[in-house]
Amino acid sequence: MAKQTSTTAKPATGEPIVQLIGVNKWYGEFHVLRDINLSVNKGERIVICGPSGSGKSTMIRCINRLEEHQKGRIIVDGTELTNDLKKIDEIRREVGMVFQHFNLFPHLTILENCTLAPIWVKKMPKKDAEEIAMKYLTRVKIPEQAHKYPGQLSGGQQQRVAIARSLCMSPKIMLFDEPTSALDPEMVKEVLDTMVSLAEEGMTMLCVTHEMGFARQVANRVIFMDAGQIVEANEPNEFFRNPQHERTKLFLSQIL
Ligand code: ADP
Ligand code: MG
Repeated sequence: MAKQTSTTAKPATGEPIVQLIGVNKWYGEFHVLRDINLSVNKGERIVICGPSGSGKSTMIRCINRLEEHQKGRIIVDGTELTNDLKKIDEIRREVGMVFQHFNLFPHLTILENCTLAPIWVKKMPKKDAEEIAMKYLTRVKIPEQAHKYPGQLSGGQQQRVAIARSLCMSPKIMLFDEPTSALDPEMVKEVLDTMVSLAEEGMTMLCVTHEMGFARQVANRVIFMDAGQIVEANEPNEFFRNPQHERTKLFLSQIL
């Protein structure tokens, strides 16, 4: 659990960087996202929670087009997500994503995992990419692991590499999908601490997580999803103290 002190994060600036307008998605016949409306300002830290199967992963995966929506609009940093592959590429460069299962390349060293996209996607000279990678590996407190392979690291260390790898692309937005739920309890804190420090530096973050201590500490908004809908959204104090909907109350009673 993260400490429950309030964050020193900079306030959000009021400029939308992600907008979902009437977004709907189906998997075949199954209506997985129902009229999702969400506007995220630069610098906001949003925690998304809700029962398993409620559409949390699908929603954040739509934001970098790992999934396609069928109705409504998604606009990321002024660019609308359509089938235009060039735009999708542009957006994926700006949007970092960290998954539950770290998704590192097992046959590449930690340093190579971090420099791959900057070298191949951004055409950065190898030396510069390595310098940047070392900067971020230092930030996530594992520079000494740079020449090891993912399999030689603990889960918490691998997840910090995954975060460093995303940061090497200088993303404007970071998406996290249950980044700590595959970790042993003693490793959760080191990953949450990394996320807290990112938030304090003003990174725009959307985090699917059930770490409610983290939500209290860094989120400026908590969103509750159920059955493909955003049922409730509020600033954390109100969200936890005074949940409005029965489904939110039930969910909180089960996890807190
Ligand atoms: P959450 O992240 O909230 O647990 P998901 O977004 O992963 O929920 O999934 C929402 C629903 O969509 C679930 O019922 C899940 O089984 C279904 N689903 C997810 N991915 C697919 C897919 N690729 N094809 C069909 N159904 C899917
Ligand atoms: Mg999920």
